[in-house]
Amino acid sequence: MIIIMEPGATKGQIQNVIDHVHNTGMKTVVNSGVIQTVIAAIGETSKYSTEQFEILEGVRKVERIQVPFKLVSRDSHHSDTIVTVGKNVKIGGDNPPVIIAGPCSVESEEILLAIAKVAKECGAKMLRGGAFKPRTGPRTFEGLGKLGLEFLATARKETGLAVVTEVMDTRDLDLICEFTDMLQVGARNMQNFSLLNEIGKTNKPVLLKRGLSATIEEWLLAAERILDKGNSQVVMCERGIRTFDNKYTRNTSDIAAIPVIRKLSHLPIIFDPSHATGKWDLVAPLSKAAIVTGVHGLIIEIHPDPEKALSDGPQTLNFENFRKLSKELEKLSQTLAITK
Ligand code: PEP
Ligand code: MN
Repeated sequence: MIIIMEPGATKGQIQNVIDHVHNTGMKTVVNSGVIQTVIAAIGETSKYSTEQFEILEGVRKVERIQVPFKLVSRDSHHSDTIVTVGKNVKIGGDNPPVIIAGPCSVESEEILLAIAKVAKECGAKMLRGGAFKPRTGPRTFEGLGKLGLEFLATARKETGLAVVTEVMDTRDLDLICEFTDMLQVGARNMQNFSLLNEIGKTNKPVLLKRGLSATIEEWLLAAERILDKGNSQVVMCERGIRTFDNKYTRNTSDIAAIPVIRKLSHLPIIFDPSHATGKWDLVAPLSKAAIVTGVHGLIIEIHPDPEKALSDGPQTLNFENFRKLSKELEKLSQTLAITK
């Protein structure tokens, strides 16, 4: 951390800042220029906020050299992390993009099995489906709970697809861990710190969605919390953010977040074109765009009859459109692999 003093800072003010730094256990290197003094604080800087030095008299500004998300940063871990889900699904690094498909919510065993069959047939490696659904309104479908988890387990058994489902509440965590291969943290819970702490103590891979209005740094810090508790199997998921413009799309797709996360972090990054756009006809073009930017996977909502889906029908692909998209994505991935 670099502490830049005001040009007129007195010797007393400079000494006071140095004492504050030493009191934290950090060391200092002081560079006294003709006009200004610059103090480098060296040590466990991530434990301290820049503000706690910025408020001291005579300080002009304080800047970090190291990012605050040390564990997830490429600075601390240069090679790509590859997250293994279930027995053999590999997400990250140079592995081909993993397609995760399924309904927004698990609705019935029959519908889920039909979806899982189509997902498998189209080359998806994982099945998604919410059993505990985050809904704002109290009189909306909130998922089948444990029964939904049982249906997911049946679909896994029948197809061999690994399963991911959302966990909203620490009280459901043990139950969900029993039934699923990967834990999804939804956008609304990216800053549910007690949930992140508990998930960090498990050994299940985690799909960490970006919060509705989270900055990239806040999202990486949420991942940092999970790693800090001991679980390093985290996959980041961009799912669009809220901006001023929601007339034609549900969210604004932040495609740039994909190469940004790849640059800043060793963790894999996948994209959710369904929630990022909110419109089924935008799912295909945005999926392709994400593949071109180097995404490690896509999570796509599909349903045999989206008009009748109990949640998120407008952004859900029917089987015909998913089959078509899968073929196009396969071709695109092959073309990209050739030109690499
Ligand atoms: C979902 O995946 O169905 C979901 C609710 O996603 P998000 O948390 O991104 O809104
Ligand atoms: Mn959904």
